[in-house]
Amino acid sequence: MNVVLFGPPGSGKGTQAVRLASELGVPHVATGDIFRRHLKERSELGVLARGYMDRGQLVPDQVTCDMVETRIGLPDCAPGVLLDGFPRSVAQARWLLNWWDGRGAKLDKVVSLVVADQAIVERLSGRRSCVSCGATYHIVHNPPGERCQVCGGEVVQRNDDRAEVVQERLETYRRDTAPVLGVLAERVVVQSVDGVGTIDAIYARIWAALS
Ligand code: AMP
Repeated sequence: MNVVLFGPPGSGKGTQAVRLASELGVPHVATGDIFRRHLKERSELGVLARGYMDRGQLVPDQVTCDMVETRIGLPDCAPGVLLDGFPRSVAQARWLLNWWDGRGAKLDKVVSLVVADQAIVERLSGRRSCVSCGATYHIVHNPPGERCQVCGGEVVQRNDDRAEVVQERLETYRRDTAPVLGVLAERVVVQSVDGVGTIDAIYARIWAALS
């Protein structure tokens, strides 16, 4: 089953995707996580991506699609994959649908998490992430304490969670990413899910939308 989990930055895609992928038994492929891994390793791709990420802009389509192909072309993704943060532009969406078409595969489900802008700004500006394992916290709703509660790593604010970058990310979402839904909707019915509430409540809604 190929699933796209869609939504604005800060809509909780990452949190939900980890659990969903494990329950569906498919790999969780999050382009933001892959870029951050490259950044940490200071690979050529990481160096290139950094400028865009720090400004809240999209990494160019060709680079992103090549990176995704390297991942979803691996055998573990053949039975299906859960995509989180991809596609994020109309060109990426068309590329993905063509790529699946060429392999006799298809998009099965799209779940779109809906969260108002004001809530997104509040979530992202208060978000803190572990530099080692990526676990996320919130300074008010889920304070991390001194160190990461999962692995003991250092907990910091992501560069792109700073207030001025969050505004740019929202703008990028509205301009480049929101139109993706129209492209995906040409193939499957997009299931919109209210992304406000407890993690468990939102998960239950996503699960209901998928089944
Ligand atoms: P995320 O963790 O999904 O919010 O992604 C963090 C940043 O990585 C984004 O703001 C973009 O700069 C970059 N990025 C992640 N996914 C994509 C994508 N599909 N296309 C282009 N850039 C991306």
